[in-house]
Amino acid sequence: MDAYVGGIEAGGTKFVCAVGSGPDDVRAEARFPTTTPAETIGRALAFFREQEARYGPVGAIGIAAFGPLDPHPNSPYFGTITSTPKPGWANADVVGPFRSALGVPVGFDTDVNIAGLGEWRWGAAQGLENFIYLTIGTGVGGGGMINGKLLHGLVHPEFGHIALPHDWAADPYKGFCPYHGDCLEGMAAGPAIGQRWGRPAFELPPEHPAWELEAHYLALALRTFICTLSPERIILGGGVMEQPQLFPLVRRKTQAYLNGYVQSPVILEDIDSYIVPPALGNRAGVLGAFAQAQMLLD
Ligand code: ADP
Ligand code: ZN
Repeated sequence: MDAYVGGIEAGGTKFVCAVGSGPDDVRAEARFPTTTPAETIGRALAFFREQEARYGPVGAIGIAAFGPLDPHPNSPYFGTITSTPKPGWANADVVGPFRSALGVPVGFDTDVNIAGLGEWRWGAAQGLENFIYLTIGTGVGGGGMINGKLLHGLVHPEFGHIALPHDWAADPYKGFCPYHGDCLEGMAAGPAIGQRWGRPAFELPPEHPAWELEAHYLALALRTFICTLSPERIILGGGVMEQPQLFPLVRRKTQAYLNGYVQSPVILEDIDSYIVPPALGNRAGVLGAFAQAQMLLD
């Protein structure tokens, strides 16, 4: 049986905490808004103490966090959020308080790597050694596995900040990324759609031209990721992908922009099983955090 552990999805807008051992055994779950580090981490600790009284101690805790962050266990800054503009969170130590208060191993990685790990363990990436998980929400982030290992590097990948071709005549919107303006995140995250069209993304009807343009940018990005990483599958999550009409548009445009160059049957003939939504839905992060905690115990 899988070990009883804790998981935290530490997002920029909300925290989700849970205890259990897998998708069919989530014994308790709590959600609350992300405010200051002290208050938010305090609420999370209170949740785990409460569950400890009920179910006994967890073996380990996994944390899927918003970034940028330091995911390297040997770094002096491991477990911290690094350069975020989010007030109070720059250089905040997330792992330390859990380690010292609960005395268990604590894992820490990007929300997207951990959501990918959840999909690998129980969802849409089972059995694969190479896949990417992208979220298109308040920002655009990406993670996943290459050769069976979660994606790390100098720091961690920043899929959202790649440069894209920008036809200024067709789309005069300048992008909202404070660092790059019209990078992928600047052009295609939820806030970009809202600013470009003057209405929140979730209010735009399915036939609105916003979705064709959104699919265009996402497909340009997927072409780049397919050509650089050669993933065996691409999982697209996040609030923006709740628009079901986006999937067929993104699939068709990705095929068109690759233009037959990548000779793989799954891209040429079975793209519906290549570009997919997360099987665990919006629970991928917290379940991935369970999987990460369980790996610390193995
Ligand atoms: P976060 O990225 O903060 O974790 P989400 O993944 O829910 O959260 O992304 C929030 C963004 O997604 C917002 O910009 C919002 O406008 C957009 N969004 C949320 N739901 C929808 C929807 N059903 N359709 C289109 N866009 C949505
Ligand atoms: Zn950027």
